Amino acid sequence: MTQTVHAKKRFGQNFLQDEAILEQIADAAQLTKDDAVLEIGPGTGALTMRLAARAGSVVAVEIDESLRDVLVPALSSAQAANVTVLFGDILKTDLGALRKKYNNGKHFKVVANLPYYISTPVIMKLLRDEVPPASCTVMLQKEMAERMSASPGGKEYGALSVAVQYYASPGLICEVPPEAFRPRPKVTSRVIRLLPLDVPPVTVKNEEFFFRVVEASFAHRRKTLVNSLGADPVLRLSKEQIADALRKIPAATKSEDRDGRTDFLPVDIRAERLTIGQFALLSDFLYN
Ligand code: SAM
Repeated sequence: MTQTVHAKKRFGQNFLQDEAILEQIADAAQLTKDDAVLEIGPGTGALTMRLAARAGSVVAVEIDESLRDVLVPALSSAQAANVTVLFGDILKTDLGALRKKYNNGKHFKVVANLPYYISTPVIMKLLRDEVPPASCTVMLQKEMAERMSASPGGKEYGALSVAVQYYASPGLICEVPPEAFRPRPKVTSRVIRLLPLDVPPVTVKNEEFFFRVVEASFAHRRKTLVNSLGADPVLRLSKEQIADALRKIPAATKSEDRDGRTDFLPVDIRAERLTIGQFALLSDFLYN
């Protein structure tokens, strides 16, 4: 059926054809009949059918109205009686209203083969929601998934890793080659599962300031953190202020200290070496 659909590039339409991978994504979402799923971008309904079979209900939000003629008949069987399709842009959708109308105000589990052009804003919208999803099992561009789940020290680790891990615990699932889609995307994909945290892993004095410090620290990756953060035109911090703050941040957690001696961060450190806890301390020292 999907062969007859003319895929629209502007909506990031790459329809997943591989039955085994569709099953794997639906399994990875760990659904039960007590769960209500929010699917973003059902496309032609291949994943939707599998979600309907596992969950209590599915609400699927699709931007492309022209898919109505494919999607509605595809989901007309008794097996998909628990699916509601809504046409609209997920970035403009009031998630609170959706929860209220379709799940008594309770959280959804999100499952999606996300359109890559909006995957970061969609994920940040979900994670920053007043009632975040119980889980987000989503297919992303491989590099994006790896950046979201990266640990300090590697080249994938950046502002996106810190932002995502402030809200959720990430777990990488399977890799998906371009051949699994029609049309084939240019890139390899990866499924990731994000489990939103009840509370952030660190407490900061001012969240907005914290995220700005993180963004600015990674803005010029080849520079030291002092130079990168010191160049931010909004924060307008002096290099001396930043260096002073770094000198006060323990280089390792207490359990890693040897001989009871505490080492502090060197002033020529680069942003990719700081843990989320060290960024929290940096932002709090500078906020004063
Ligand atoms: N779920 C289908 C699959 O796995 O084959 C389609 C996945 S395709 C990568 C992404 C889908 O998201 C497309 O159906 C596209 O039209 C839809 N989409 C793109 N932008 C969207 C938006 N802002 N809100 C809701 N759906 C969107």
